[in-house]
Amino acid sequence: MPDPVLQVEDLSISFTTGETTFDVVRDLSVTLDGGRTLAVVGESGSGKTITGRAIMRLLPRGAGARGRIVVAGRDMLAADERELRRARGADVAMVFQDSMSALSPYLDIGAHIAQAVRLHDPSVSRRAARARGVEMLERVGIPEPADAVRRFPHEFSGGMRQRAVIAMALVNRPALLIADEPTTALDVTVQAQILALLRELQQEYGMAMLLISHDFGVVASAADDVLVLYAGREAEYGSLRDVFEAPAHPYTAGLRAATPRLDARLDTGGERTRLRAIPGAPTSLRDAGPGCAFAPRCGLAGQVGERCVVEVPLRSRRTSGTTGGAHRAACHLDRLPSSGEIAR
Ligand code: SF4
Repeated sequence: MPDPVLQVEDLSISFTTGETTFDVVRDLSVTLDGGRTLAVVGESGSGKTITGRAIMRLLPRGAGARGRIVVAGRDMLAADERELRRARGADVAMVFQDSMSALSPYLDIGAHIAQAVRLHDPSVSRRAARARGVEMLERVGIPEPADAVRRFPHEFSGGMRQRAVIAMALVNRPALLIADEPTTALDVTVQAQILALLRELQQEYGMAMLLISHDFGVVASAADDVLVLYAGREAEYGSLRDVFEAPAHPYTAGLRAATPRLDARLDTGGERTRLRAIPGAPTSLRDAGPGCAFAPRCGLAGQVGERCVVEVPLRSRRTSGTTGGAHRAACHLDRLPSSGEIAR
């Protein structure tokens, strides 16, 4: 068996402001093989994006990472700047939600892609790098690519810009693509086209993909495995089927209950099913108490006495899921009730 493309072991990420240092992510461990997609799901502030940036070693000033991150055999946290330049683009690339902020208004699209090629391999001539840009724009479905490379970002629609950003990210065929909410700013038909394009390129290149999203609909259509984060910690991890069909953490069950489903009326014989929001606001590791960070919002918190508020649940269940892989949840309960209120 080939080694996984991505191995994250006991990753914690902290920020330092003045004299204070606090964790925003704690003890994350995941592996991801080539050709597979792991979706990282959670509300704003759960640690999804900062984890993606830590994998790229693109943390903001004042932030630091501990633990181990290995991408395509390279220890990212131990790598020096030269190694990192080599790794970014060739081993790992990132597509951001806001394509406009990833593109300079002063450069045409061809220059952006050529820059990505020459940053990775300075021996490639400018002309050859621009020719790669034309090829790549054609590959991501931009019409008349030879003309399109001469156009500027503001001349592209949102969907076209996102295709151009994908072309930039994939021009060096990275082993791992981190896609951070890649379709959030797009309308729903373009969103489906971009997800289909990413899937197609992933299969063609054999890439691993870390898909960061808050949208369960996007996750359902693209992921093989799912990691649910809450307040910077793993809440649940498993195959898409296990996590969606048999959620083992009350937070995941709450997210599922808050997601509209087209088939819900069929399941209920035509009766409307009501969406249930998770009450309360998400918290952070910094503000979480000594127990489970989800306890203030969890309708099952009292079922194991005081345990939920005094003891952090650490992947308390490690079971083999129905699809054969690991399915684990950080919850003190052995089993969720099959129905009933799971949120306060
Ligand atoms: Fe709810 Fe307790 Fe499980 Fe946390 S550990 S999710 S509070 S039941």
